Amino acid sequence: MRRLKGQLSLTMALIVLFTVAVISLLSNILIAGEFEKYIGAQQKEKADDMISNFSGQYDGLTEQWNEEYLHGAGMYALYDGYIVKVYDREGAIVWDAENHDMSACHQVMTEISARMKKWRPDMQGAFAAHDYPLTQNEQAVGSLSISYYGPYFLSDSDFRFLGALNTVLVAVGLASLCAALLVSGVLARRIARPIIRTGYIAKQISQGDYSARFEGNTGTLELDELTAAINHLSDRLAGQERMRKQLTADVAHELRTPLTTLSSHLEMMIEGVWEPSAERLQSCYEEIGRLSGLVADLERLEEMEHENLALHKTRVDLMEVVRTVCASFAADFKKKNLSLTVEGGSSILEADRDKLCQVMVNLLSNAVKYTGAHGHIRISVKDGEDHATLTVEDDGIGIPPQELSLIFERLYRTDKSRNRESGGAGIGLAIVKSIALAHGGTVRAESRGEQGSRFIMTLPKL
Ligand code: ADP
Repeated sequence: MRRLKGQLSLTMALIVLFTVAVISLLSNILIAGEFEKYIGAQQKEKADDMISNFSGQYDGLTEQWNEEYLHGAGMYALYDGYIVKVYDREGAIVWDAENHDMSACHQVMTEISARMKKWRPDMQGAFAAHDYPLTQNEQAVGSLSISYYGPYFLSDSDFRFLGALNTVLVAVGLASLCAALLVSGVLARRIARPIIRTGYIAKQISQGDYSARFEGNTGTLELDELTAAINHLSDRLAGQERMRKQLTADVAHELRTPLTTLSSHLEMMIEGVWEPSAERLQSCYEEIGRLSGLVADLERLEEMEHENLALHKTRVDLMEVVRTVCASFAADFKKKNLSLTVEGGSSILEADRDKLCQVMVNLLSNAVKYTGAHGHIRISVKDGEDHATLTVEDDGIGIPPQELSLIFERLYRTDKSRNRESGGAGIGLAIVKSIALAHGGTVRAESRGEQGSRFIMTLPKL
């Protein structure tokens, strides 16, 4: 497996190499083409210049050629690679470079041919003579033959110029390559470092160290999101771990009391200190009942917390749920002589009916549990625009203000209820809360001292 840094550097280097190669090739072709056109145009201009200059060297009056000039200009042209011959009107040679300096002409021709063959082997060029008429006032005075390497030829300095251009391109390519390697190295390090660190933190988390966190910013949006997700995961796992420990401790605590009572009662009876009377056996039976109740509650809570994600929503009338559950409590109301008022009208929501029944059962059973004989319970359903509100109110023992936020925690029971026989395991309200949250709703408790409690739940209608 290749490392990120290596991969990034290699990719960037390849891109730069490719780009530089393409640019070099294109510019070489373009520049060479343009340059050759320019040289061709210059050669034409040179020939035109020579024609006009050479035409002017004929004196019509004396019918003489300025041979001194012809010689100077002809030799000058020779060293530029042009072999010149001037003929008079009758076609007799006036001045001929080859006649003057055969060896120089030969040398120029071989040098140019060799140079062009070396640098432009595909060109298949050759020396060729081009004839031009020489005129004065539109009267022919002679002709000029210029022989040069065609279709074009370049001097040593021209080739040096093209060579320098290539060197510059290669240098630019190498410099860009170095810059690309440097930049990709820095970039790869910037990307790789947080990823490596995140991987290390994820490993620590997988080994149970939930305190591991990614500190600081990476400066890259996606990487920041990744590190934030890892930190969030760590928080969540730490929270779950805390809850798990808390729950284990709470359950152990809840189990210990009935188990101690049971075992001490049974021990006394086994050792013959106590008679196993029906009354004592009944008390043992009740303790076992409490234990079973606790186990059943725990099972329900576990079920609720797992099922929260999967609500089976249908159209439900909250008032219908209230009335159904109230009817099932008729016997309990009667036993304690409690009076019940139900207010409000129907309110239709998209919700899980069974879960709403569970909420109602838990709230109403608490109200019954924590309200003394002849107490009063009031239930109201309010149908809002996009929310429904359920209120369950009693005039029972009330909840101390400092405990109002705690009673929704699992296994939390107020001191008041602990002292009462009627108290449960402290799970009912945790279930109510998780159902409310799963529906996107809220639940809270209010209490005015000892004058009773009020539970208010709001649920979105859709
Ligand atoms: P429990 O099974 O103990 O009733 P819950 O989770 O239903 O557990 O309630 C948690 C605690 O909140 C109870 O132990 C009790 O102290 C308090 N509580 C709940 N409902 C009422 C109420 N209507 N009046 C007074 N206290 C209440």
